[in-house]
Amino acid sequence: MDTREAWSTFADKLRASQRVLCLVGAGLSAPSGLDTWRGSNGLWNDINLRDLASPNKFFEDPVTVWTFYGERLVKTLAAQPNLAHHALAALATGHEGWLTINQNVDGLLEQTEHPMTRLLGIHGTLRTIRCTSCNYNTRIESPSDVPFLLLLSTQLRSVTLSDLPRCPVCTKLLRPGVVWFGEMLAAGAPDTIDDWISQDDVDLVIAVGTSLEVYPATEWVEAVRESGASLAIINTEKTDRLVDELNDDDWFFEGDAADILPRILDLVTYRHHAKSSPAALSSSVSGACSLKRTLLPSS
Ligand SMILES: [Zn+2]
Repeated sequence: MDTREAWSTFADKLRASQRVLCLVGAGLSAPSGLDTWRGSNGLWNDINLRDLASPNKFFEDPVTVWTFYGERLVKTLAAQPNLAHHALAALATGHEGWLTINQNVDGLLEQTEHPMTRLLGIHGTLRTIRCTSCNYNTRIESPSDVPFLLLLSTQLRSVTLSDLPRCPVCTKLLRPGVVWFGEMLAAGAPDTIDDWISQDDVDLVIAVGTSLEVYPATEWVEAVRESGASLAIINTEKTDRLVDELNDDDWFFEGDAADILPRILDLVTYRHHAKSSPAALSSSVSGACSLKRTLLPSS
């Protein structure tokens, strides 16, 4: 189908879909200036990020790992939600049967009007740092909250082990509050997502700015695809593994999420559901966390 027809058929599908699963990744926050996982200054280009994002690497070389995440955190604290975040929040608000799975750790989507009962973060957050030994954790609002972050933001000198933040309770090293490869996803999130998916058919999956290459997110997408959901991918590059598998009932929108999501929002006019109930999602949030799902690169 041509481009105009694609927009039109997608808008029709979105309007008609009772249940929509939306998976978002780094491409959603790129327009906020956070497209730097691979390093805008080239500093991190030679480092295998999958190795960096691991507990083993942290204990082996905490200065390198903390410097990477500390720089991310300083940038994140200065960033604002962009048009893509706000458009997504509006789409989720207008759609009772919506669930967003957020793979980002920057907290920007959480700063929008996105209904919290329809949003699940699975990879933790940069904005909380926690103790590697006891239960201490603290929320970071500004680089000035932590001398280490202030040092990174001023770049007066390079970081040493003695600069890294330590627990005020037990003096052990603090660490970023993100989920590393091999660690459990955010408590309860996988079960909540499984429950939501199993409640009824999912009509549409929208993947925004994500490579769809990290388990278990890719598993959820494949599960709902197998039970008949259409797939729409929004990404700057056509490199997604799944693009080759797209059917006639699927869509690929190539471009910046901050251009595409507002356009989709314009095309879709929802009736207002002013008093939508939190639905079954909120009740299942308190459900048991029996499955120990961990973050793994998909094979
Ligand atoms: Zn501690």
